[in-house]
Amino acid sequence: MEKPIVAISTAVNYAGIGIVRLSGPGAIQVADKVFVSPKNKKLEDQKTHTIHYGFIKDQDEVVDEVLAMLMKAPHSYTKEDTVEFNCHGGIHIVRKVLSLLIEAGARPAEPGEFTKKAFLNGRLDLSQAEAVSDLIYSQNDYALKSSVGQLRGNLREKIETIRKAVIYNTAFIESALDDPEHISLDGYPEKLEMDVDIWLATLKSLLDNAESGKILKEGIKTVIIGRPNAGKSSLLNVLLGEERAIVTDIAGTTRDILEETINLKGIMLQVIDTAGIRNTKDAIEKIGVEKAKQYVDKADLILYVIDASDKLSEEDLDIMKLIGDKKTIVLLNKTDLALNVTEEEVLSTINSNKSDIKVIQISAKENEGITKLEETITAMFYDGKISFNNEIYITNARQQSALLEASQSLSSVKTSLEANMPEDFYTIDLMDAYESLGKITGESIGEDLVNEIFSKFCMGK
Ligand code: GDP
Ligand code: ZN
Repeated sequence: MEKPIVAISTAVNYAGIGIVRLSGPGAIQVADKVFVSPKNKKLEDQKTHTIHYGFIKDQDEVVDEVLAMLMKAPHSYTKEDTVEFNCHGGIHIVRKVLSLLIEAGARPAEPGEFTKKAFLNGRLDLSQAEAVSDLIYSQNDYALKSSVGQLRGNLREKIETIRKAVIYNTAFIESALDDPEHISLDGYPEKLEMDVDIWLATLKSLLDNAESGKILKEGIKTVIIGRPNAGKSSLLNVLLGEERAIVTDIAGTTRDILEETINLKGIMLQVIDTAGIRNTKDAIEKIGVEKAKQYVDKADLILYVIDASDKLSEEDLDIMKLIGDKKTIVLLNKTDLALNVTEEEVLSTINSNKSDIKVIQISAKENEGITKLEETITAMFYDGKISFNNEIYITNARQQSALLEASQSLSSVKTSLEANMPEDFYTIDLMDAYESLGKITGESIGEDLVNEIFSKFCMGK
């Protein structure tokens, strides 16, 4: 017989709370073997999307005080019966709960098995599938970590705050419904409605930001600058691995700004090849130059190409002023020819106290030094040296859709509140919002999405 699977689905956090998730046929029965509620109610007899306070017991000994969240098939992430135990006794206790559940008939989940179930049961929708393919496509730990859990503190904090408040309110309603003599819901809906309004406003602002902040999906804004004929278009071509930009011997040919997306070991670069920056009276070219200046202002990363077979020119000095304190990699191009510019010269000219400017010798023509350039970019990214303002980012479509789901669930709560519906009518929506928010912080997804995707859907093919 198929056994339910069980795993610790979050690392134990600072408050000592860890979640043990159990899912699959028979999950609720297994949960009931170790979970004891004060009124001895069985989880099996409870409605889906409800939370229950109680204890995990090993024989007669209390192991931990927990909240059990019940999600019945098909209303769970895996579409199968699911119980999540929020434990708070610290990592040893969480492990103990896990082993008790295994004793009771569950088996340890393989990495990624929850998501695998979700996939197989058709739980992941289009946008999620898209995000998953982004992840597979990106093939790099950073992007994976970012999309799953490595969110900047700000976002995580906002989501977690709402998520905690939502679960608190759900638990409160459930308790009041369980024990109406002691817990009163008088005046409660009005208060909840005010909270819901605040949560909705926060989610809306995050969603608005998502539009401008899809950095990993759309890429690091990278601008290639340099005087005409330095080799900008040639560089873009080698990065792209194809002849896309127009390369000519005539200075100032690249008048249109070319924009390409490049996947550099999973880090997306949105690369813009600007017209050569030069002081010119030529009207058409000037437009390009003005544009280039604007692009530099918006850039996350500048690739500044110098024709190192020539001396530094007046134009180069102008360009160096333009760079300001932008993250910059200086490329001494045309190393296949005799070099007339040195790294020291460049560094001292740009700004002596700007220590983290990187200088790399390349030959766009001979495809030399390009690997080093790519490694330098990825290293800067990993080290957090390329920063993307300090905005809050929703890093992918999956998070964005989860945010949207959460808003929709909360809007339903609001509608129910306005219509004076009974409390148990909207606890389902509150739970849905809780689950959706967890998907953003990675907590409803399972910690091993990374392994899941790779081990189950990629490596094996
Ligand atoms: P852009 O105006 O900065 O975009 O420069 P292009 O990429 O159009 O290149 C200008 C000229 O320099 C072309 O003739 C290229 O073939 C040549 N070029 C570009 N990179 C190199 C290089 O690494 N070595 C040599 N020898 N020539 C190069
Ligand atoms: Zn060009």
